[in-house]
Amino acid sequence: MSDVPVTDNFLSNARAVVRRSAKRVGLSDKDTEELITPRKRHSFKIDLEGKKYDAYRVQHSNVLGPHKGGIRFHPEVSQGEVEALALLMSIKTAAVDLPLGGGKGGISIDPSHLDDKQLEELSRKYVQHLHPHIGPDKDVPAPDVNTSATIMDWMVDEFEQLTGDKTKATFTGKSLDKGGSAGREAATGRGGLFALQEILKMHEHDKRRLTIAVQGFGNVGYWFAKLANEQDEFKVVAVSDSRHTITSSDQLDVGAVLAAKKSGKSVADYKNSDVKVGDVNDILTANVDILVLAALDNAVNEGNMESIQAHYIVELANGPVSDVAYRHLHKTGTIILPDVLANAGGVIVSYFEWLQNNKGEKWPETRVNRELDIMMRKAARGIFKHSQDNNLSMKDSTFDIAIQRIATSSKK
Ligand code: NAD
Repeated sequence: MSDVPVTDNFLSNARAVVRRSAKRVGLSDKDTEELITPRKRHSFKIDLEGKKYDAYRVQHSNVLGPHKGGIRFHPEVSQGEVEALALLMSIKTAAVDLPLGGGKGGISIDPSHLDDKQLEELSRKYVQHLHPHIGPDKDVPAPDVNTSATIMDWMVDEFEQLTGDKTKATFTGKSLDKGGSAGREAATGRGGLFALQEILKMHEHDKRRLTIAVQGFGNVGYWFAKLANEQDEFKVVAVSDSRHTITSSDQLDVGAVLAAKKSGKSVADYKNSDVKVGDVNDILTANVDILVLAALDNAVNEGNMESIQAHYIVELANGPVSDVAYRHLHKTGTIILPDVLANAGGVIVSYFEWLQNNKGEKWPETRVNRELDIMMRKAARGIFKHSQDNNLSMKDSTFDIAIQRIATSSKK
């Protein structure tokens, strides 16, 4: 997975959103501060060939269950970023009603300069520092920016050697033959599609096939586009990557676009007489019903929010619509499925992986997808209803539901 680093004031923004929500749901100042403050911050140095790298794990909340959240390797990883992401993980797991809390970790390093041997050493050393604090019932990390199934396999192996725990349930996102779950690769795109379908069911719209534009053609964007195109109600007509936007007068053959991108450099290597090649940001202003943001944070912002034409936006990336743009678009009637709901399919299937490891089971993909379908739709319905009943945006509604769940559980 890859991502773009988050902004400097990310932590204060995340805390401000939580504080506003805590106020709405009637939490005292003391309870609000308790909710915001992480349970534990681990900060240490990892020595790799004589050079020291800053490493972190922030365990935010474990009120609903073990901490859950990724580990990223990126030069801009910092205490503040990890802390903000850990807080948002607690919100995400609570919003979709998982028996899990929030956490996040990372190492401040550029892994593109490392060979496999160095990467393995780094990953194992991370676990050597943290192993007393993580485990199936304590904290269950996963891949994130620049970390992969192979890295999780090394980490789970190191944990097993240090502790004797053979469940493999301390890390999720592992390779299939090392305890990973079927269906994980497509889970975030698939979950976003389920949430969108559920929200559309609750809105009046004419029964015409809805057109979709997808920003970002990586793991999440590709799977969303492929699965949406398989539904009668949708037609993906535009996709983009970091180089170009392609727009078609008819439904795009998403599989052929992927093949062309793989053999060339960009989605623009897909050649078809129906397709027009445009600039990277053309995707944002496409004349479509639904805009799916699956690339980077802050893609829709004060500078371009007035030009958005889509009536629905699905935030599959983390924070792709800035706060100002979110408020503006909500006011002008755009319906935005917030990231904490829309991209929760990944953590839901991680939860299924953890369950399978703990119980020594191996679920077929059909079961994973069926259970994901049920959880995503239930969460989407609850969040939508709460937003309607309380005249809130779906983002505010998601935070309020999550914070109420955590607060109620802390009082028990
Ligand atoms: P990825 O690296 O596989 O794909 C990212 C894609 O975005 C690439 O195709 C890249 O070319 C494209 N991109 C980069 N800059 C762009 C730009 N300016 N315009 C258009 N496209 C651009 O990453 P991914 O795993 O698909 O994740 C996408 C987003 O979803 C990230 O923000 C990630 O944090 C978030 N997310 C991913 C998961 C998951 O399960 N993979 C879960 C939750 C959230």
